[in-house]
Amino acid sequence: MGLIVQKFGGSSVANAERVFNVADIVTKTYDKGNDVVVVVSAQGDTTDDLIEKAREINPDASRREMDMLMTAGEQISASLLAMAIEKLGYPVISLLGWQAGFLTSSAYGIARIKQVTPDRIQKELDKKNIVVVTGFQGINRYNDMTTLGRGGSDTSAVAIAAAMHADLCQIYTDVEGVYTADPRKVKGARKLDVISYDEMLELATLGAQVLNNRSVEMAKKYNIELEVLSSLTRAPGTIVKEATKMEKMLISGVAKDDDVARISIIGVPDRPGFAFKLFSKLSAKRVNVDIILQSVGRNGTKDISFTIAKSNLKPTLELVNAFLETSGASGVVYDENISKVSVVGAGMESHPGVAASMFEALFEADINIQMISTSEIKISVLIERSDADKAVAAIHDKFFSPVGD
Ligand code: ADP
Ligand code: ASP
Ligand code: MG
Repeated sequence: MGLIVQKFGGSSVANAERVFNVADIVTKTYDKGNDVVVVVSAQGDTTDDLIEKAREINPDASRREMDMLMTAGEQISASLLAMAIEKLGYPVISLLGWQAGFLTSSAYGIARIKQVTPDRIQKELDKKNIVVVTGFQGINRYNDMTTLGRGGSDTSAVAIAAAMHADLCQIYTDVEGVYTADPRKVKGARKLDVISYDEMLELATLGAQVLNNRSVEMAKKYNIELEVLSSLTRAPGTIVKEATKMEKMLISGVAKDDDVARISIIGVPDRPGFAFKLFSKLSAKRVNVDIILQSVGRNGTKDISFTIAKSNLKPTLELVNAFLETSGASGVVYDENISKVSVVGAGMESHPGVAASMFEALFEADINIQMISTSEIKISVLIERSDADKAVAAIHDKFFSPVGD
């Protein structure tokens, strides 16, 4: 008995049958004597459909109005789930993000949770209600609705679990847990029983969509153990928790990110200051730079390449082009048809050879590496987009083939 937060993603509530399936999971948890707070995403592809509807009306709609629109998706699923739970004969109430106490920053579309004040949730739990909360949203200090960025319902669930000191936070989705690669794309991907916050954070940041990276960051900060599992099969899922409580895996997974663009500045004068000035300008515009590569200077010039999210390409090119006029570099080229493929594993810190194995897999698949970046627990390579799926499969086979165990 305790307080359990259960989050259900879009596919888990996609239609009436699925909504009743979720109502069944929730009420079974309630029947065991638990207080239950449920966080829901919009049904199926609703959020994408809403974005498309907005594009038809005004492709340059303001971010405020976009959030006004997008928050509606979660309102629909929360009320429908509450109706299903009602129908099963249980006491229930649905709440919007602001009613549940979510105060966020003002950055529409990418708002950060500043504070969760769950007084109303607590009051409803005290009345023995099951509480259904809309994920992905809150209000800012102007009392306007905000959204937390795509996939943000995971973060809503963890934030409630943290604010209310929940005993368990379950993230129900359409696969049975966190796998060694996307199980929908990679044959032979294996479910992990357990993964550390740090590895999960890397995987989520590097493209494994199964958990939003901010939710993992928050779970780590407040030490909330997560369970990722399927609402459809209800089989035991993957536990995400502190590393000290588990054995280190050499490699925990392979991830792919297609949201990458590369910009290369050619013929940069080989003297101090260029990188400082360029990256200061990018940082002032809040452009997040990922991999940076600088060539060795030859004949007084060098090249600098860096990667950014695709959505930042246009403003970054404008900024770089304006900077080039005064900087003496000879030109700029860019490429959007690239992907970043990464391996993540806490064990690589103490085991040499992971990079060599990864590069060998790419070589055997005849895939050219454009850029490389590493940290203590991950290695990422930038490759051509058309090679990305083949690269993930080849790398996954190298580390997880039955023979290689
Ligand atoms: P939800 O709507 O429940 O939030 P998402 O679509 O956001 O679900 O995330 C689940 C999807 O994440 C899965 O269907 C799967 O295709 C994808 N995915 C990518 N990488 C992984 C991984 N390493 N393990 C599990 N799922 C993954
Ligand atoms: N509905 C939102 C999205 O599609 C939030 C979420 O699903 O977590 O991104
Ligand atoms: Mg999601």
